[in-house]
Amino acid sequence: MPEQFCSLPLTDVAQLTDDTYLYTFALARPIAQPDSAVWSVWVKDDTLQAARRYTPVNVPDTADAPISHLQLAVRVYPDGQVSRFLWRKRIGDHVELCGPKLTWKYQAQKHRHVLLLAGGTGVTPMLQLLHYALRDPSDSTRFTLVYAARSDQDHMLSADLDRLQQQHPERLRLRYLAERVTQSGSNKKDGRGWQGGTGRITQDEVEHAATWPEEQQRASLVVLCGPDGMMHALAGRKRTDADPGPVNGLLARMGYRDDQVVKL
Ligand SMILES: Cc1cc2nc3c(=O)[nH]c(=O)nc-3n(C[C@H](O)[C@H](O)[C@H](O)COP(=O)(O)OP(=O)(O)OC[C@H]3O[C@@H](n4cnc5c(N)ncnc54)[C@H](O)[C@@H]3O)c2cc1C
Repeated sequence: MPEQFCSLPLTDVAQLTDDTYLYTFALARPIAQPDSAVWSVWVKDDTLQAARRYTPVNVPDTADAPISHLQLAVRVYPDGQVSRFLWRKRIGDHVELCGPKLTWKYQAQKHRHVLLLAGGTGVTPMLQLLHYALRDPSDSTRFTLVYAARSDQDHMLSADLDRLQQQHPERLRLRYLAERVTQSGSNKKDGRGWQGGTGRITQDEVEHAATWPEEQQRASLVVLCGPDGMMHALAGRKRTDADPGPVNGLLARMGYRDDQVVKL
């Protein structure tokens, strides 16, 4: 895919939750994968010339396989310009995309344990990162993902995460949090009831998730992505990509330094 916008056909749409959809776009010809996570693409609403970034969540199983399509998991906001533009598209329609653009470069083997904190659609960069890291046999980094959503029905892409966890139990722990557990949610997971926690990401949750079982030391890197309120409470407001600003909030109180926290 070139650096300029190019028009790609929408080949599939699948509903993930009440307000999130998985959009699949076919590339004109396969492209080489970016070397590492995390990367995103721009999607343009050509009626209003507005563009937003989205993080593809499909990653091939091997590093040398080319990418022939892009899958974007997008939350549709009632007044969201580009997300609603996508929502109105039908299979066969064309949409302008450009990329890939590196958001943050993950380095294999740099940390023993990385803590990932995601809220809502903030899970998309985490899923991409996990695909890259876990398929790499030379990388032994372990990950704990705490994934918070409004309700137990809103954890989009949880089937992909569960599959990764089952394939790599020694390298990935998952913790789902829901602000609200629904009646139907209590029957989830084969009738075993809701297995996650309730509420938002608290200090107790972070403390617990930051320490891998049997390990003394806390995760040496925390990567987080989510709505402004979550970012503010956990790590301080993110200013810009180039200057994310200092670590504040809960992670600062826990002793995490600026070089140990990545605000995506
Ligand atoms: C690097 C990067 C990767 C991203 N990856 C994804 C992804 O994979 N999937 C995805 O769904 N989004 C992703 N986003 C967010 C996305 O780029 C848009 O910001 C989002 O889709 C809203 O755009 P919009 O044009 O629909 O809404 P806008 O017209 O920009 O905003 C309309 C309304 O939506 C609200 N709103 C916008 N963004 C948020 C938010 N994050 N949380 C709460 N309210 C919000 C605004 O307050 C406003 O009320 C990513 C953002 C970045 C910077």
